[in-house]
Amino acid sequence: MIMHELSIMLEVVRRVEAVAKANGSPKVKTIVLQIGEAASVIPRFIEDCYDAAIHQTTLEETKLEIEIIPAMGRCLDCRQVHHLRDSQGICPTCRSKQFEMLSGREFQIKQIAVEDHYESDQNH
Ligand SMILES: [Zn+2]
Repeated sequence: MIMHELSIMLEVVRRVEAVAKANGSPKVKTIVLQIGEAASVIPRFIEDCYDAAIHQTTLEETKLEIEIIPAMGRCLDCRQVHHLRDSQGICPTCRSKQFEMLSGREFQIKQIAVEDHYESDQNH
């Protein structure tokens, strides 16, 4: 399983490095990832393989932050919105198992925070 997360993180590292390079290669301080509760990756495994993914890259000192997005469904019968982890996919109002997914499958880079290079320029 963790190989799945590692290959995803290697791809994230490649993308962040490409974005940084296209913007004059500032030092990247933090990568913020958004991961949905129903996404196919497990946040703990992402954290576990992060050090390996950034090893010997330009992101070696970059921190990782993960934001979890709750998996929400809207009942197709009564339109009630429910948290799928709590309801286990069953509408708490009418017991219907039919729902449309509103959120929770996300896996995206939300933010790439870089060091303020103007600040370091004034430090000499
Ligand atoms: Zn319902």
